Amino acid sequence: MSGNPPSHHDPAASRVAGPGPWGPLPGHARTVIVGGGLAGVELAAALAGHGAEDVLLLEAGPGEELSHIHMTHPRGPATEVVFAPDRDPHFHRPWLSDAPPHYTGISGLRCRLGGRSLYWHGVILPLEDWALRPPAWPAEVVADLTTTAAGGPSWYDRVTADLTAWSGGVLWDPAQPARTPFGGREFHPLPRACRHLPGTDRWEAYTALAAWRGPGGRPTPPPGVRVRCDTEVLAVDVRDGRARGVRVRAADGTVATVAADTVVLCAGTVESTRLAAQALTEAGALRAPRLGGLADHIVQGFVVRLPAGRLPAPGSYHLPADPVLRSYLRMDVYDEGHGEALLDVRVTGEQLPNEDSVVECRPSAGQPWRAHVRTELLPEDHKMIGGQRDLLRDFWAAAARELGLPATALEFAGFGDADRDNTRVLPDHTRGQSTGRPETWASLLGTEDHEGGSLPLGRLLDARQAFPALPGLYAAGPAVFPRLGAANPSLTTIALSRRLASLLAAG
Ligand SMILES: Cc1cc2nc3c(=O)[nH]c(=O)nc-3n(C[C@H](O)[C@H](O)[C@H](O)COP(=O)(O)OP(=O)(O)OC[C@H]3O[C@@H](n4cnc5c(N)ncnc54)[C@H](O)[C@@H]3O)c2cc1C
Repeated sequence: MSGNPPSHHDPAASRVAGPGPWGPLPGHARTVIVGGGLAGVELAAALAGHGAEDVLLLEAGPGEELSHIHMTHPRGPATEVVFAPDRDPHFHRPWLSDAPPHYTGISGLRCRLGGRSLYWHGVILPLEDWALRPPAWPAEVVADLTTTAAGGPSWYDRVTADLTAWSGGVLWDPAQPARTPFGGREFHPLPRACRHLPGTDRWEAYTALAAWRGPGGRPTPPPGVRVRCDTEVLAVDVRDGRARGVRVRAADGTVATVAADTVVLCAGTVESTRLAAQALTEAGALRAPRLGGLADHIVQGFVVRLPAGRLPAPGSYHLPADPVLRSYLRMDVYDEGHGEALLDVRVTGEQLPNEDSVVECRPSAGQPWRAHVRTELLPEDHKMIGGQRDLLRDFWAAAARELGLPATALEFAGFGDADRDNTRVLPDHTRGQSTGRPETWASLLGTEDHEGGSLPLGRLLDARQAFPALPGLYAAGPAVFPRLGAANPSLTTIALSRRLASLLAAG
């Protein structure tokens, strides 16, 4: 997504981009989806399921390779693709951080058809009822997700059933017991929508794109959906107080306008927020192109190499979230061979939305306007960070006692120390760790890939995921969560994309 930004009134704008590998860019589509990642592909697939016609999915990155990274790489190299993004040609950070080191380093997009759905781990947890409730979330959205939607099962139940079927009927290793006692706690298996390649260590997490993999690796979208890759959306086309389409730049630098009745932003939280802020400002609905509420999960943990024999079996485990701490504890056990295992323990907690955590565009003659990101922690977040550390210390003390090891105290660096971030779990680092000596780490904000909250439902968006201030414009993805809760976002992202498809299809 680089190149010379054209001026807003570039005469080239009226030309239609050359055919390229994806065929000519249509001049009009009924529904344009901006961004072909987890939320966008799910939305397109669900719209097709409703018989929608004339859906155009625009993706900035390429679409030739549609495999999950854990299908193409063994665990070590796949982890490095995530944690050492210079090894990933698709890594791209379109924003600048005004709060470094947060939103720097591994914080960014994976710019390709599929987006981060080709990287994610498939962990699907519903948002906790202490976060997913009115007034933060609109009551009708809460009811649709958790109780019943359109007279049928809730969206959470429908998506969980489909993802369980996709995964081969189970969401965890059937050999894992329902409860695993360890460190004075009773762990549950962590639900993951994944399927394994038999006889190998390769696996993939759910993506709606799996159903689109056609001959020669090219996506074969369902009838009614057209896909244009290598096509970056520069701005929403705003005229007469309505979203009328999008302005795009193709790989060859040609700029064009695609008219649309409906535009849905699914470009990842920061990019969708940039596009919305810019459009709302042009429409006169915002005084300046700046939107608050940006949040990520606050995650910290420790990793320790241990003799394998007395640890739970390799796998992923978790405890239900603690409503007071707004966090949940997760434990992964990896078999390292030679009688050793790696114990990776982390607490994931909710950063509360606040108006000083913002995505802000600096208007410029050319497009796209550059997004700047800032983040702040509230006093409640700082308190949570302390509480998470107490939980990790207590858990390690209990686990070490159980294993008959000396309980070395866990030492933490200041939150936001870039030398002690989540890249500590890279195999290059853990390989050299001494047995029995835990090392702590804390993720920098923006590096969990769970960023959301800056286009909140019930405030900037109505319960139909539409911008009341700019008819014709909608959004999907974690950006629309008014509160993140502690759960990983994607079960809710998928459920909301399907819900939006059914609302749009119903007209
Ligand atoms: C390693 C890893 C593990 C994860 N594990 C989990 C997990 O276990 N559970 C969970 O719930 N979540 C997990 N996540 C998070 C999850 O993947 C994201 O929350 C999710 O992908 C966000 O969906 P999205 O559609 O908003 O963004 P993305 O999936 O990032 O998609 C955005 C798409 O928009 C495109 N785009 C951006 N700007 C433009 C533009 N201007 N024009 C056109 N296209 C554009 C991008 O190229 C990209 O394809 C994980 C993420 C990573 C990286």
